[in-house]
Amino acid sequence: MQKTNLTIGVLLLLCIFSITGCGSGMQEKEKPEWKAKHVVFIGLDGWGSYSMAKADMPHVQQLMSEGCYTLQKRTVLPSSSAVNWASMFMGAGPELHGYTTWGSQTPDLPSRELNRNGMFPNIFNMLREAVPEAEIGAIYEWEGIKYLVDTLSLDYYQHVPNDNKLNTALTGAAVKYIKEKKPTLAAFIYDSPDDTGHADGHDTPGYYAKLKELDDQIGEIIQAMKEAGIYDNSIIIVTSDHGGIDKGHGSISMMEMETPFIIAGKGIYPGRKFQESMMQFDVAPTIADIFYLDPPQVWVGRSMKQVFN
Ligand SMILES: [Zn+2]
Repeated sequence: MQKTNLTIGVLLLLCIFSITGCGSGMQEKEKPEWKAKHVVFIGLDGWGSYSMAKADMPHVQQLMSEGCYTLQKRTVLPSSSAVNWASMFMGAGPELHGYTTWGSQTPDLPSRELNRNGMFPNIFNMLREAVPEAEIGAIYEWEGIKYLVDTLSLDYYQHVPNDNKLNTALTGAAVKYIKEKKPTLAAFIYDSPDDTGHADGHDTPGYYAKLKELDDQIGEIIQAMKEAGIYDNSIIIVTSDHGGIDKGHGSISMMEMETPFIIAGKGIYPGRKFQESMMQFDVAPTIADIFYLDPPQVWVGRSMKQVFN
């Protein structure tokens, strides 16, 4: 009897040892070190590439010189908000994800595929499913963003209206979130300069003044990342959904169709204006690449691999 118990005991110990040993080994294999531990995505609604020739945006220009960028990221049609934010987050165009208008809150045509939350596969649920413990959040001035960010995959989301027109409320919420939670992936989306474009007009003194104000807000977010101790292990993306012309957008002029895409931080080549073509739906695969997530087959976007060092 005693001998049998001893044998069982040894076998049990061997089992435990091999399970924990193999387990941790497999975990390491399955999760290679990410290109960066944190991704901060900053969106400026209605920020056309045309503006960069005249814009006074020192923080953005510093990110451009420290990282990679294109001023020719092309908008999907129509050159409107929801359809383009959706395309950025969902790695595909409106024909597949189904959000086709400026204010779509649900797909106007059936999404070609649905994830377990009933949404088109997107960067938020991809990261959530691969890394359940990841801290993922979205804070935005325009409430329409809520319908496009797969809130069931987020730890935190907040609508912060731009009541004082200075965009400071969103920045304050973003700074707090960064310092308290050190997010793995955070999206902060300002509704300006689009609202200024509609009120004052695009390519006007008021529009450029708003860009300067927004650049100050971006500076504050960068400062918060430094104070939180995550800056050196982060990648920052600054981009937009569409530009504009006169007091509107939605059509096909190049002022409406081209937006900046700037990416800087850990492991990003410095000082490279890349020439490869980029579409809105290439944004999600590029973020997925940072976390080594396999894009779902329904995504048509490509990672901008040339930006990674
Ligand atoms: Zn917009």
